[in-house]
Amino acid sequence: MGLKVRAGFAHGQNTQIEVDDFDLEGPREGEVLIELKAAGLCHTDMSFFDGSRDWSDYPIILGHEGAGIVRDVGRGVSSVRPGDHVIPVAIPECGECRPCRSSKSNLCDQYFIPTPRRPFSRAGRPVRAFCELGTFSNMIVVREMQVTKIRNDVPLDVICCIGCAGATGVGSALYTAKVEAGSSVVVFGLGGIGLNVVEGARIAGASTIIGIDTNPGKEAAARAVGVTHFINPVTLKGDIVGHIRELTDGGADYSFECVGHRDLVRQAVECTRIGWGTIVSIGILPGSQEMVLRPRSLQEGRHLTGSYLGNVKTRTQLPELVELYADGKLALDDLISHRIGLEDIAKGFSMLHDGVARRVVIEF
Ligand SMILES: [Zn+2]
Ligand SMILES: [Zn+2]
Repeated sequence: MGLKVRAGFAHGQNTQIEVDDFDLEGPREGEVLIELKAAGLCHTDMSFFDGSRDWSDYPIILGHEGAGIVRDVGRGVSSVRPGDHVIPVAIPECGECRPCRSSKSNLCDQYFIPTPRRPFSRAGRPVRAFCELGTFSNMIVVREMQVTKIRNDVPLDVICCIGCAGATGVGSALYTAKVEAGSSVVVFGLGGIGLNVVEGARIAGASTIIGIDTNPGKEAAARAVGVTHFINPVTLKGDIVGHIRELTDGGADYSFECVGHRDLVRQAVECTRIGWGTIVSIGILPGSQEMVLRPRSLQEGRHLTGSYLGNVKTRTQLPELVELYADGKLALDDLISHRIGLEDIAKGFSMLHDGVARRVVIEF
């Protein structure tokens, strides 16, 4: 069975994302055909055409955040069936490898093993899909181990943001840092990820949540989801680390760096409390940058850690975050600032790039 689909793709660095028709082969053994209802735009997709990533396998169909409905399954698929609402996920959960059997990590071994399978093609030539997903296509074929079944009563055009931004942000607060009630939290960068960290910190019961962003336009949205103090480093008089230490009675319990900049990682470390401060590095530093820390900053009892998709096990734990949304505890709706059609995808990315948008969602 072959299908005609329409998808957003990149054809090289320093170009615009484009939309075109592709062919999609039906699901083989262990695979699932999903009709996407909505997809979220993420900065990581942008790295395939804004010149910031070393990549040569073009064209590539982009998109790794989305939600949809199962339309067909291949032989041997047992966890989902046609009609199920699902979230396709970037990190598989095979359930069998060491990380999958351990509670310590969500990084399934299968994530690092390249698969030769290319369900998309154009003019008879196989086409790569980012994370083996390609959610900027109205239909995708993915491995069952990359499909998370969710309840059927949550709106797909909202929950689509949970697969990357939601999991990364909320998961970093709840599962990576394990923020405690009454604690103080600092979030550097209030984009789609940072706002979800704020959500996670608020759900965990943090009493002080300090949001930092150079864009004053981010303040209102940040306060709406739980930020108690907003700091704009551009207009702040004096040293930001000292200011945060003062606000938190000697240093924050937790800090999250969501931008990916060496200087901010250093500030994120220094603003936490001596003895037990925990720092989560989420933003990806450009390839040319290395972290530079004051030699004693970790000896002083701080914990510096990274987080990949918020330590959320994609098939077994992501539904817990969906439950938080369904219970009204997670305000994903407020994070979505713009809704567009697939044909306007380039415009959507420019809004994301300019900081005009929080999260942009494509509705199919
Ligand atoms: Zn992403
Ligand atoms: Zn696994």
